[in-house]
Amino acid sequence: MAIEITDVSKEYFVKGKRIEALKKTTLSIREGEIFGLIGFSGAGKSTLLRLINLLEQPTTGNINVNGTDLGKLAERDLRAKRQKIGMIFQQFNLIETKTVYQNIEFVLKASSYDKKKVPSRIEELLSLVGLSDKMDSYPKNLSGGQKQRVGIARALANEPEVLLCDEATSALDPDTTKTILKLLKKINKEFGITIVLITHEMEVIKEVADRVGVMTAGEIVEMDDVYAVFSHP
Ligand code: ADP
Ligand code: ADP
Repeated sequence: MAIEITDVSKEYFVKGKRIEALKKTTLSIREGEIFGLIGFSGAGKSTLLRLINLLEQPTTGNINVNGTDLGKLAERDLRAKRQKIGMIFQQFNLIETKTVYQNIEFVLKASSYDKKKVPSRIEELLSLVGLSDKMDSYPKNLSGGQKQRVGIARALANEPEVLLCDEATSALDPDTTKTILKLLKKINKEFGITIVLITHEMEVIKEVADRVGVMTAGEIVEMDDVYAVFSHP
């Protein structure tokens, strides 16, 4: 799905002090692309993801996802829309007391997914990420790469139209990072899912993104096709 961010700003107040996490940001993410947002820590990348994911509201401006203005949604529609947005995290955010199977089951049960189809859906997801043999394992017995595969399976459970990746490979070694990025590319191709990823690593952007935005102090200071940005002298 296409994501249109128009003049979006976000302010926080910490102990009476105003922090401008995003300054009048405008950004168009195209349907089906892999868009990478790069920048140093504190640049405003995660704030932008949280706004797209409907976890927070912008202070000013407008976010439109596939023709729907997110600011105008009623509570019920907001929840439905959220289910169409998957997210994966640096620290995976798996539930340690649940098995791989149960981690995914939990998300499907919390949504309106047809109960009869839950087991077959979980099998399908685990096969997609190459973890069918780890169904009954607990997160503590998985490698970092395997944990992120579970994270990806969970994020895809409700067939989202967009996948948001928050420093999803930052806790992984370079080889594992490559395999996870390959999996993201495969998912992007197979399902046409729009992927937005934020990272502080150039290599990640080079490896996987179609376009890149460079973020500094709450502003997107440069945006282009990845090959154009990286062929600068
Ligand atoms: P990045 O993801 O690029 O590291 P963030 O979006 O996390 O950047 O942060 C941007 C700025 O907003 C930082 O100055 C950060 O301290 C501030 N910030 C982010 N979230 C909050 C919050 N919930 N409360 C207060 N300040 C915040
Ligand atoms: P709670 O607020 O009780 O943690 P949630 O349903 O918000 O319950 O989250 C449960 C788990 O599912 C969390 O670990 C979270 O990271 C994950 N999760 C929630 N929403 C999504 C989503 N859209 N995509 C992927 N994972 C999600």
